[in-house]
Amino acid sequence: MPKKHFKKSNKTQKIAKARINLLFRLAKEHFREDNKLSDKYVKIARRIAMKHKIRLPSSLKKRFCKNCHAYLVPGVNCRVRIHKHRIIYYCPGCKHFMRHPVK
Ligand SMILES: [Zn+2]
Repeated sequence: MPKKHFKKSNKTQKIAKARINLLFRLAKEHFREDNKLSDKYVKIARRIAMKHKIRLPSSLKKRFCKNCHAYLVPGVNCRVRIHKHRIIYYCPGCKHFMRHPVK
């Protein structure tokens, strides 16, 4: 049987992107009450992105830990430092550092 190649549909990608944005908004809203719920939203958003082969924008990438996928809020559960022209995010949950270059 020939391999099926799924055509990238702009419409479904658009819907997926809207869903990802919504999930991150929900994660932000629910963080104060239940940060476990926020982590769950991040997990779902990542799964949608992977399924639809969408690259998460850098603004969203900074909002969760690359290692344990916890939703991070700078100053609350995440330490932000600037070192050698790089923004360094530290996740206390799994002790993982993430480096983002400064534009
Ligand atoms: Zn982490």
